[in-house]
Amino acid sequence: MMDVSKIRGVFPILNKKINGNKLVYLDNGASSQKPQSVIDSICNYYENQNSNVHRGVHFLSDLATNRFEETRKAIKSFIGAKYSREIILTKGTTESINLVANGFKHLIGMGDEIIISELEHHSNIVPWQLCCEQNGAELKIIPLKENGELNLEKFESLLSKRTKLVAISHVSNTLGTINPIKEIIKKSHDVGARVLIDGAQAAPHISINMQELDVDLYCFSAQKMYGPTGVGVLYGKEEVLNELPPYQGGGEMIKDVAFEKTTYADLPHKFEAGTPNIAGVIAFKAALDFINNISLKKIAEHENSLLKYATNELLKIEGLKIYGVSKNKAGIISFNIDKIHHYDIGVILDKMGVAIRTGHHCTQPIMKRFNIAGTARISLAIYNTKEEIDYCIKAIKKAKLMLL
Ligand SMILES: *Cc1c(COP(=O)(O)O)cnc(C)c1O
Repeated sequence: MMDVSKIRGVFPILNKKINGNKLVYLDNGASSQKPQSVIDSICNYYENQNSNVHRGVHFLSDLATNRFEETRKAIKSFIGAKYSREIILTKGTTESINLVANGFKHLIGMGDEIIISELEHHSNIVPWQLCCEQNGAELKIIPLKENGELNLEKFESLLSKRTKLVAISHVSNTLGTINPIKEIIKKSHDVGARVLIDGAQAAPHISINMQELDVDLYCFSAQKMYGPTGVGVLYGKEEVLNELPPYQGGGEMIKDVAFEKTTYADLPHKFEAGTPNIAGVIAFKAALDFINNISLKKIAEHENSLLKYATNELLKIEGLKIYGVSKNKAGIISFNIDKIHHYDIGVILDKMGVAIRTGHHCTQPIMKRFNIAGTARISLAIYNTKEEIDYCIKAIKKAKLMLL
């Protein structure tokens, strides 16, 4: 059995009082809290290691570079990549996807197609719209079923020789649906398309292996997995990354600069122009160590049992509807109660110390699909407890009484 109270002990913020009440933090889908080891790593960098990476010959620069590259190696093992150079450090999932979409602008043209789905985060929609706008390629959308799963028959009918790329979330940040990405990747490869997976909601909860998935590109963000903000990952197969042109030009990403012709650095530096978030990247390793020490398997077990419990308790509330009822779900619950505005539920919960997210969750097409303006969303992490769910349910019942 896992000792959750011991785990909670390493998250200083969980002792905070919010509006006079104990904090119950259920907005982990937006950003999880940070353990002391991550906070310490950031302080330690500025106190003892601060210097720019990959530049100086001096001691501190060498130290910072080594620590920075240690994180890259830790990410490589965390996701089962073949080489460290296949790990590009970015500032988040959004930047990772934009990096790829910007490159694809040059690789596709009139008559080509990109497939995304109705359940994507705006980060996995807008970059592809921008990409297609500029070269006459067409964006195709896999529709959602009522239970929050993708319509895979429709997906197969969209696939063709014209499909150049399929870009899909591993886990929906609004509905919690875990998409069958292995099957999607296989079917896409059968028609010669590349696949990008937005793993922002999967990496904190599901064990992923790039080689097993045989995925071309995979993105995620550190702040949703107990790490700092401003750090993200783009994994790409070496041959796929080599096809893509650089994203930004500047220092660090060149081999040789001359006004006649500049040549670019090898992977991964070709995509890492400028000074990165060094402290954040170094601290991200502490977050990965935190996850590894518990194991993703135990994290998933814990969150799944809370998900089941919370779902059952929520459904006992009359008039409450949950959006996204796929069998294969991660710890995310979106709901509405009768005609009550989701925002009002969020405000009353906040008064009681319960942090949830309300709104469209950067997924307006899902809102349109279900004909709603937004939802209230609970999203779980390893430090959440059954008692917190009970307290949250009590708060929701109180909000309902006040608002109806
Ligand atoms: C959070 C999230 C993003 C955006 O990630 P950033 O870290 O804000 O760049 C993209 N897709 C999904 C599914 C997300 O949950």
